[in-house]
Amino acid sequence: MIQDIYPHHFLLDYKLRSPAPGDAFLLFHGQQVFLNAGGSYPHYEELDFSGTDVHFLFLFAIDNQNYFLADLSDEKANSFYALQEQKKLLFPHSVRCLRDLRPMDLAFAGYTAWHLHSWYQSNRFCGHCGAKTVPGTDERKLVCPACHAEIYPRISPCIIVAVHDGDRLLMTKYAGRPVSWFVLIAGFIEIGETAEDTVRREVMEETGVRVKNIRYFGSQPWGIPGNLTLGFTAELEGSDEITLDTGELSAGRWFLREEVPVPDDDVSITSAMIHAFVKHEF
Ligand SMILES: [Zn+2]
Repeated sequence: MIQDIYPHHFLLDYKLRSPAPGDAFLLFHGQQVFLNAGGSYPHYEELDFSGTDVHFLFLFAIDNQNYFLADLSDEKANSFYALQEQKKLLFPHSVRCLRDLRPMDLAFAGYTAWHLHSWYQSNRFCGHCGAKTVPGTDERKLVCPACHAEIYPRISPCIIVAVHDGDRLLMTKYAGRPVSWFVLIAGFIEIGETAEDTVRREVMEETGVRVKNIRYFGSQPWGIPGNLTLGFTAELEGSDEITLDTGELSAGRWFLREEVPVPDDDVSITSAMIHAFVKHEF
């Protein structure tokens, strides 16, 4: 999965620090990320920010590799990126392409950086009084200098569940989304719910099926769009008849273990759970 970067180590120690040669930069602009000609993150010495109004934000380190965000003022960002493209120094890519970078620590760095970038972007102003926020000095937070509100990074918890009945697995297809293959039932945890409540509710809402023996499988940080996905397995309880939520889904059916469509993907927890079922791990 995207977070499986062993033997590398993800280090979250927060420090207010300035970039130095060798440090890698995540340059996001709109829904794009700018990579160097080698298709990877540019290092500090490859970048020329002269003439821009830029703030550097330390993100995290993977082993000894530091990662930074460059936060350019809105007025200067367009001309900066246009110049980088013109000079053939940096090239725009969709942020979703970051999941395809290898080795896996590069994909993980990109998705995690996007999560932090999105949080910084959407909290530039205090939600209580409207003043401009500033980064915290002692831990990862944003602070309002006017009313002293503290804003911590936001993670949206969601569940994914592999509903099984002996040698059969319940799989569904989304309606009207780019994901056009069979996946597992998933959804966001609502305020006031336990993760297990969400599993029962989502399975019932999407397929009309009841479940029992809900077991934790594992979790995955997923930087686009900023989730922590909690994976569960659950057994069918009672009728296996599917009543599909056609607003959300275009198809839903039971697959025999040997017929399960296995995704060609080693990045997502969805894929890890489907592989685990096929290998008789549950
Ligand atoms: Zn405030």
